[in-house]
Amino acid sequence: MDSFGRTVDYLRISVTDRCNERCLYCMPEGYKGWKNTPDHLTSEQIVRVVRVAAGLGFRKFRLTGGEPLVRRDIVELALALTTIPGVERIGLSTNGTRLAALAAPLFEAGVRTANVSLDALDAALYRRITGGDVAQALAGIRASVAAGYERVKLNCVLMRGVNEGELWPLARFAAEHDLPLRVIELMPLSSSEVLTEANFFSIADAKRVFATHDELVAEAGHHLGWGPAKYFRLRRTGALVGFIGAMTTEHFCETCNKMRLTADGKIRPCLGDHGELDLRATLRHAPTDDAVRDVLKAALRAKPKEHSFNGQYSPCRPMTAIGG
Ligand code: SAM
Ligand code: SF4
Repeated sequence: MDSFGRTVDYLRISVTDRCNERCLYCMPEGYKGWKNTPDHLTSEQIVRVVRVAAGLGFRKFRLTGGEPLVRRDIVELALALTTIPGVERIGLSTNGTRLAALAAPLFEAGVRTANVSLDALDAALYRRITGGDVAQALAGIRASVAAGYERVKLNCVLMRGVNEGELWPLARFAAEHDLPLRVIELMPLSSSEVLTEANFFSIADAKRVFATHDELVAEAGHHLGWGPAKYFRLRRTGALVGFIGAMTTEHFCETCNKMRLTADGKIRPCLGDHGELDLRATLRHAPTDDAVRDVLKAALRAKPKEHSFNGQYSPCRPMTAIGG
């Protein structure tokens, strides 16, 4: 439990800051972070952190990045993590473009849930937002459904003037494939210019778009996974839509249950706060797990009450380097 009485049992692990896409809102133009020699944690180091975290009561873990599927040893890593005592769930966050090949081996390794980014169905718009190929992402989504994942969720980041026209097609796609769609407010996570009043599209705006097509019915008490989404059902289409409004929802942080491990070995207690504790030095030099445990406990104590996005927050490193 943290200093504010929240149970924190969910660790999101950024396994790489590399990515094969270039999303407008995630990676600042010209980002050169990964031109440096890779300073990623090794698989052994990640396994050690998860073992210690599971011993402390962490139960849910997510492989993310950057794009986790560009890491070559991702299947072996997933397998090593799913067999650690105390680990109940390993989820995956991915842009989906490599899932067609990897969904089945990751399922075999024990991964059971996948969140796949899908900001647009229109191929040209998808390419404009991400730099990638929507056909690959869709093939990845199909492959994860076919592989038998218990939950495959679609994630869409809202941008005014960019993809609000995609919301209804995405909802219909979600209904057709019986997959939950989550719409996410843009956060200031790439560079200061990414989030402006002009391009911010709130979850209230998104609800208005859906309401022009269908009736939104609150699914009270509906929890799908471990995240902060509030779910609604579109009555006629049947789509389940989750709204994640970190910027406009009051008390958004009250139920926060997570911390992050960055690809370069920092523990970040809150996505929207610059505070980080260095775990890598400990992993390199401490022979016993006690020191690792101490850093995790210190991070839990340092977890702030709420994020600082609504103040003068300016990202010190891009989302891709923190882990989404
Ligand atoms: N590459 C994977 C993917 O795209 O899903 C995993 C990492 S990505 C950083 C994790 C999630 O963070 C994605 O759903 C992405 O859309 C979201 N994200 C990235 N930058 C964001 C921003 N500035 N505001 C809100 N969400 C963002
Ligand atoms: Fe890559 Fe995911 Fe960031 Fe897009 S959101 S640039 S796919 S890490």
